[in-house]
Amino acid sequence: MPANILNLPCYKILGITENEHDYHIDVETQEAPTSCPHCQSSNLVGFGRREQRVKDLPMHGRRVGLCIDTRRYRCRNCGKTFYEALPGIDEKRLMTKRLAQWMGKQAIKRTFAGIAEEVGCTEFIVRAVFSDYVNGLEKTIRFETPKWMGIDEIHLIKPRGVIANVQNNTIVELLPNRNKDTVVRFLHHLEGKDRIQHVAMDMWTPCRDAVRAVIPQAEIVVDKFHVVRMANDAMERVRKRLRESLTPKQRRGLMHDRSVLLKRERDLNDKERLNLDGWTKNYPELGEAYRLKERFFGIYDAESPDEAQAKFIQWQKSIPSGIADAFADIERAWGNWTMPILNYFNHPVTNAYTESLNSLIRVMNRLGRGYSFEALRAKILFAEGAHKHKRSRPKFERKERKQAEPESVMMYGLPGHFKNFEMGDSFARMAPKPAPEPKPHIQKSTASEKPEKNYGADISTLIRMIEAGNL
Ligand SMILES: [Zn+2]
Repeated sequence: MPANILNLPCYKILGITENEHDYHIDVETQEAPTSCPHCQSSNLVGFGRREQRVKDLPMHGRRVGLCIDTRRYRCRNCGKTFYEALPGIDEKRLMTKRLAQWMGKQAIKRTFAGIAEEVGCTEFIVRAVFSDYVNGLEKTIRFETPKWMGIDEIHLIKPRGVIANVQNNTIVELLPNRNKDTVVRFLHHLEGKDRIQHVAMDMWTPCRDAVRAVIPQAEIVVDKFHVVRMANDAMERVRKRLRESLTPKQRRGLMHDRSVLLKRERDLNDKERLNLDGWTKNYPELGEAYRLKERFFGIYDAESPDEAQAKFIQWQKSIPSGIADAFADIERAWGNWTMPILNYFNHPVTNAYTESLNSLIRVMNRLGRGYSFEALRAKILFAEGAHKHKRSRPKFERKERKQAEPESVMMYGLPGHFKNFEMGDSFARMAPKPAPEPKPHIQKSTASEKPEKNYGADISTLIRMIEAGNL
């Protein structure tokens, strides 16, 4: 028998049976325990055995089950009985820790159903293991809180909230929706939220209310893109209404009207300009709507909020009564969002951000089918190689806190352990001793190994990965 085909050095293989689909491997630990976990006495006596069945990494295309012959002992000193500890086993999930780790990584790229089939467990277990894995990642990967935050909508099966770093073109969080409660909860728990200076968003009232409630110091900015597209929509309403009233022959005279009308006047070529002139003569309303749309875009040539507001008032006065209903939404939105719209003139959102986010939204529907929201969120936030880093001095405080929690507790620990430590003195003395504090010089050297700030998942990298089918 090979020394250890499992490559699990803590275990001795006792026997292997196999069939077309499975390996069943009988093992026991290499070393029996030498002391009682309750009182540390070495005065132990065997007290029977039990079979512990756990799953391991699939091997040679077959599912692998380990049958661990686990020893039980009684301590002659304190009288308590215990089972030996099983190294490398996640006893909560009945699998090896390495399998849990592998499943977590796989679940970012593959469906839960596919992994469940390969490992030989239920999808329910894959979901639970994945959730542990993502929680582990979230404890080790921290994104910088943006000074300029974007809150937008993205469609992943349903409309979701995407939280971005506007200056760095990165995504730092995905929310299951954009309800006020969801956004409030997210902002409330956000480390460094007091440093957020601007929040760019579309005109979505629940988000505005959430930002005002939790980070009142942040200035809300409505991106130009969301405002001017309302002028396009208004013009489209006029165009569609007109088309409905026309005969098929007349309609043929309006070839490519949509794309021409949506263009800015300065971008029209000679032929398009000629067409537009013709349509305007025949259908004055269409010309009025086009010119009104163009003048609305012109508001954004203003160089200050005051100038913009004055231009808007002028524009509003110039709306012809025949098409006023089509443009009523804009007037209402400007009235409800005046300050955030005008803030743009002091703090414009970069085109680069708006454009890359819009491209991401366009390719996003290539993801989606067959995945839960949690999996999609993890795919995007924790995509390997997509994180944008920048070297900087490490944050000393954070390192300190992280080291205070032993890794095993963070990843697999039972919540009960924490409770014990928080209880009264007498109980704390009974609780297992926490790991010794790391020495100061060790702390310093670990801190200098990670001198990078992580700004989140780079939007253009994500787009490339999605287009290449790598996500
Ligand atoms: Zn004992």
